[in-house]
Amino acid sequence: MRVMSLVGNRPQFVKAAPLSRALRSRGTEILVHSGQHYDPDLADLFFDELAIPTPDHALGIGQGSPLVQLAGMITGLEALISTERPEALVVYGDTTTTLAGALCAAKCNIPLAHVEAGLRSFDATMPEEQNRIVTDHLSGLLLCPTPVAVENLHHEAITHGVHMVGDVMLDAALMFADAAASRIGATAFGMTPGEFILITVHRAAATDTPEALAALIEMLRALPFPALFPVHPRTRAKLTDAGLWDEASQIPGVTFIGPVGYLDFTRLLTQARAVVTDSGGVQKEACLHRIPCVTVRETTEWTETVTHGYNTLTGMHAGSVSAAVLDATIPADAPRLYGDGRASERIAALIEEFVASR
Ligand code: UDP
Repeated sequence: MRVMSLVGNRPQFVKAAPLSRALRSRGTEILVHSGQHYDPDLADLFFDELAIPTPDHALGIGQGSPLVQLAGMITGLEALISTERPEALVVYGDTTTTLAGALCAAKCNIPLAHVEAGLRSFDATMPEEQNRIVTDHLSGLLLCPTPVAVENLHHEAITHGVHMVGDVMLDAALMFADAAASRIGATAFGMTPGEFILITVHRAAATDTPEALAALIEMLRALPFPALFPVHPRTRAKLTDAGLWDEASQIPGVTFIGPVGYLDFTRLLTQARAVVTDSGGVQKEACLHRIPCVTVRETTEWTETVTHGYNTLTGMHAGSVSAAVLDATIPADAPRLYGDGRASERIAALIEEFVASR
């Protein structure tokens, strides 16, 4: 088989690490990097650390509004599809890159495979939710991480080509467990293992308005334990533009650092007392490592993490976040949720079958 995979941002690099290997064991993978994340700390570091093959093509999209990025990606990708002639296009998750791939595959009449299909937060104002819905409705192969995702698709009358495969982030977590465990972790950043909170915040809802940034700062001030905050460049830029960076970065008890690589982040996560996040991937990784998670959003697409007691949704409300952090424990009988660590193999086999059947 000859498939094209499209990646563009940090979580997609993590997901591509195990799947790219599995695809290449069965045929040719043409890897395309959209350039949505171009900062070396969010991109190059991941390719090096996770031994992801060098992209065959880079669209080099870079900064811009989501629509400007989308237009650039679509133009670049259409040209690549016509020269490379892949038998299928593989997209991951729910970003602008995912949507660009889905639209191009549909218009160029290339079969589309969606990794992480079927997730829904039921918040239609989230750009990610819009991207997921459009992508799922254009996909011929829908690779779902959980039974909840399969059910969500059934509610939208999508039943054909739907497969429950498990989660590729579990594959990545297992693949890199030893390498992550050998990192120094908390003490390198002045934290005591088991006694600090790890924070990530980057979504538009938490960073795009002065009110949202003020709520973030209030939340950080109220945290009941020392905290380590690897700040996403987007969040740092928003705080700086709003004239709030100096105030935020001097909050007592909160240590601000730049974004770290996947191995360091995994080590820190496994040592944290709890994680406070608005990230999709981090909610799930906390669950995989059985670290209590407090999600500073009103909704989540990883609903099973909440149902089974791994995760508490608080919104960005200082008092609720502190209370949830103080309460944070995981029930001893909480089940494993994301499969057996072999999702990538299953996905590669299904894509091969899908291509052969057309
Ligand atoms: N991550 C990382 N370094 C950091 C913060 C996060 O390597 O400083 C990893 C994390 O382990 C997870 C992924 O980035 O695999 C999550 O990406 P992000 O939160 O940017 O996106 P989302 O999952 O919300 O789409």
